[in-house]
Amino acid sequence: MPKVFRVALDTPLRRLFDYLAPEGAGEPAVGARVRVPFGRRRLVGLVMGTAGGSDVPAERLKPILEVLDRVPVLDPAAVALLEWASGYYHHPIGEVAAGALPKALRAGAPSAALQENWSLSREGREALESAAARRAPRQLAVLTLLAGEDSMTADALDERMRGWREAARALLKRGWLDRTEVAQGREPSTAGVRCAGPALLEEQAQAVAKIGAALGGYGAFVLHGITGSGKTEVYLRLVERVLGAGRRVLVLVPEIGLTPQLVGRFRERFDTPLAVLHSGLTDHERLLAWREAFSGHARVVLGTRSAVFAPVPDLGLIVVDEEHDSSFKQHEGALRYSARDLAVVRAHHARVPVVLGSATPSLETLHNVTAGRYTRLRLLRRAAQAQPPVLKLIDLRSSAVRSGMATPVVLAIQRHLTDDGQVLVFLNRRGYAPTLLCTGCGWVAPCGECDARLTVHQDAGRLRCHHCGADAPLPTRCPVCGFEVKAVGQGTERVEEALQALFPAVSIARLDRDVVRKHGDMEAVVRRMSSGEARILVGTQMVTKGHDFPNVTLVVVLNADQGLFSTDFRAPERLAQTIVQVAGRAGRGARAGEVLIQSSFPDHPLLTHLLAQGYDGFAEAALAERAQASWPPFARLAALRDSAKTAEGALTFLTEARQLAVAPPRGVRLLGPVPAAMARRAGRYHAQLLVESPERARLHEFLDGWLPQVEQLKSARAVRWSLDVDPIELF
Ligand code: ADP
Ligand code: ZN
Repeated sequence: MPKVFRVALDTPLRRLFDYLAPEGAGEPAVGARVRVPFGRRRLVGLVMGTAGGSDVPAERLKPILEVLDRVPVLDPAAVALLEWASGYYHHPIGEVAAGALPKALRAGAPSAALQENWSLSREGREALESAAARRAPRQLAVLTLLAGEDSMTADALDERMRGWREAARALLKRGWLDRTEVAQGREPSTAGVRCAGPALLEEQAQAVAKIGAALGGYGAFVLHGITGSGKTEVYLRLVERVLGAGRRVLVLVPEIGLTPQLVGRFRERFDTPLAVLHSGLTDHERLLAWREAFSGHARVVLGTRSAVFAPVPDLGLIVVDEEHDSSFKQHEGALRYSARDLAVVRAHHARVPVVLGSATPSLETLHNVTAGRYTRLRLLRRAAQAQPPVLKLIDLRSSAVRSGMATPVVLAIQRHLTDDGQVLVFLNRRGYAPTLLCTGCGWVAPCGECDARLTVHQDAGRLRCHHCGADAPLPTRCPVCGFEVKAVGQGTERVEEALQALFPAVSIARLDRDVVRKHGDMEAVVRRMSSGEARILVGTQMVTKGHDFPNVTLVVVLNADQGLFSTDFRAPERLAQTIVQVAGRAGRGARAGEVLIQSSFPDHPLLTHLLAQGYDGFAEAALAERAQASWPPFARLAALRDSAKTAEGALTFLTEARQLAVAPPRGVRLLGPVPAAMARRAGRYHAQLLVESPERARLHEFLDGWLPQVEQLKSARAVRWSLDVDPIELF
């Protein structure tokens, strides 16, 4: 049997494809891209391994057409990571592999930047001498320029002549110029430290020592430090060590737009190239950043979720900042994965330590600490001289409430402003009001495509659906009875308006997705707060993350109740994390902070635990509850979800899927199917079937046998379906 190359191709089939070595040319290495024939098409694939034989009859095996990489784009640890992800998330390997590369590389673009060289051809030289080129002055100028040199790079041409490219293209067509591309030699980068950080506090020093001692091998560490305790400083010291040893670092952050300060701190500290990878990049920018990482020129690769797949030669350390953040979970599109969990797996394959940092570690992570899989390092004191803030509940039932704000809150804002402090007001709802109501007939503006109400956007004069994006003009009268309509409830826009009416002389800033539309909007708001020009900041989740405003002395949580009574068992955890994170924005400077949390249920155990015992106390109680109910992390879950044009259609597929497992193996339970809490979204009906087991191995064994059958169901073709292993949002 001849040697075969096992290639991952971007298809929904759960397998690799066997090919023979290319004719003539050399063999591809594992991790290299190849071009292969596939049916009538030619596809770019990745060599995942080799074998001594194939199940495909020898006469049907085809040779690889072309080897695209001499240096593999995936190192062995990366190949192992993709295989692991494909197995664990039960997703076709070809799609997993394709998703790990920028689009241009999937299409066959070179892995290194190319230098474009232009030179005069023999015909071009003759044309120049014979005066045949005289009629086009710009073309003549390009020919003349190149006549003086053996060749010129595109960069050099850019410098010498504006608009040369158009002329050069025309000349290339006439055969008067030659154009070649060669891989660009990268000058090796250095990893200098611009400035030393502050002397470490005892706890910080211990954390650096512990993790530092593990460098060179695998180890999973949870850096559990209250907000402002100097976690970032710990990362920076570790990064310094790793860079000093000539290795590189991967840093994952929740959302790059929300963490410009972290990027800034890396740039301030290190005199070394940084590659930044996030969802806001164009395809071309992503390719450039990927190449910076791949070539090793960048010594620090910093990015969001998908950067967990970024190439980092000589990786020495992985940091996951704000590990609890739900944006590390990819819950749409092809592969649904947790970048945090993959970071741990990658660290394991690459034999490097991984640091999971947070002030509010996820319950899964805390459970892994208890189980001895992760080592927890604590930072219990704030760095600098900052004091932890004091939290207080405000009972919405026992005080006068106007525009969503209770009197004690308004008075507190007044007091902090008078004392020269800044105030942060958090409300997890953008827009002006969540409901438009007719005062005559009780009509409520609905979304035509979703089981949801339309949100009033007063500034824009629109009604918008926050689930499907539907958008309509804001009516002044009820379309049913013609009576007057009014906005009910509070959004950030309305709270800003109310605060402006209460404090007309004070400058107020707002931060939410309606304000932050393009690059730079966020920075502008942050600048207004940092400079002290704005005294009050009203915002959504965006204000809870990363920003360090030392002069904020009061934080107000306008409504803690949204998370108290959700059907999702994770809602309390998210609420506690949000409250602690936003509270952590108070008193980051020299002055102590105050945090006021408004609630109509101030006796709710979640809130009382959180206030009396902090996040630790909450986490302990919440874990006990999860254990009792057999929810994760005490059970393993996978959600089979689908959507269809009718409610019935959505349930049919899942019901048939369930029937394929009439007698599931011991220890595996199927729950559902049930329609989603918001069944209709964007005109489609959503439903889900849960698979649960106390043991991971059992769950996966079951899925391995079941999914290929599910895929074959006829009803599968009538719906859009997906499997989500370790889902974090349930309905
Ligand atoms: P975290 O990431 O835990 O929220 P940071 O690393 O941002 O905390 O630190 C909070 C503040 O304290 C920052 O302004 C930082 O510069 C400062 N800081 C951190 N460590 C020290 C230290 N050892 N000595 C003095 N200031 C420190
Ligand atoms: Zn909608």
